Amino acid sequence: MSNVPVAVVTGSNKGIGLAIVRALCKQFPGDVYLTSRDPGRGQAAVALLQQEGLRPLFHQLDIDDLQSIRALRDFLKEKYGGINVLVNNAGIAFKVHDTAPFAVQAEVTLKTNFFGTRNVCTELLPLIKPYGRVVNVSSMVSSSALRGCSQELQQKFRSDTITEEELVQLMTKFVEDTKKNIHDKEGWPNTAYGVSKIGVTVLSRIQARLLNEQRGGDHILLNACCPGWVRTDMAGPKATKSPEEGAETPVYLALLPSSADGPHGQFVSDKTVRPW
Ligand code: NAP
Repeated sequence: MSNVPVAVVTGSNKGIGLAIVRALCKQFPGDVYLTSRDPGRGQAAVALLQQEGLRPLFHQLDIDDLQSIRALRDFLKEKYGGINVLVNNAGIAFKVHDTAPFAVQAEVTLKTNFFGTRNVCTELLPLIKPYGRVVNVSSMVSSSALRGCSQELQQKFRSDTITEEELVQLMTKFVEDTKKNIHDKEGWPNTAYGVSKIGVTVLSRIQARLLNEQRGGDHILLNACCPGWVRTDMAGPKATKSPEEGAETPVYLALLPSSADGPHGQFVSDKTVRPW
């Protein structure tokens, strides 16, 4: 088993994920895994970074596929005995003009952004080593979508005692409500992406709380963040930040020094803790 520290970034064949891998290759003292659901796109991204003189490693990972997540888990457990840095970056968004029915957009978006990210956490968080860092890439849209929820939902999503099971029930209810076309009446905002990212931010708050309760002495720091509005295939060419600038906050959280006792369980943008 290798004693080398290891960092893993999901959805990192392009966009912000690729920029996070590039930055970690330069700054993280260990092995950095670029992962992609498609091995061809992943290997092409590895080759691109190799041309820049960097040495990322590759592993396949489709966060929609539990078998794929478990294969990565078993590999990391066997080769490294755990994980030092995990960045949950993989995500999807329908384009504004997409004509797919809202209920389809809700189901597909929640499947990857919330349920896929949660499955990665369920399988990989137990492997996080003491002083490990976990970064869940959410979005400022989670905050605006939260403000668009009914008072009752806002209270639940801001609760310091909400459980993971209750959050999963709420995310499932959103998808079901869109199918019955009652999501408006039930107090949901009109954004599937926004609700999926509420899920990511609230999940992060819950997971940080559980780490405090179950592994309090291990100094693990786990946060949600927004990278900003970043020029990628998702956000388009008019966005204000380059992928490298978008990677700055996630990388800052991934590399918080071992002496740091925070931020933890926070929502962070531009390296600043934001109110939830
Ligand atoms: P992007 O360029 O579209 O890249 C998304 C990445 O996620 C791609 O590598 C994609 O792989 C991967 N991915 C999607 N579904 C996956 C799955 N099931 N399993 C594994 N990988 C999967 O988008 P981006 O702008 O870099 O976004 C990265 C993260 O930042 C997302 O979580 C996004 O919501 C968040 N974010 C972005 C912005 C922004 O302005 N760009 C703002 C706020 C938050 P494929 O190439 O195979 O599709």
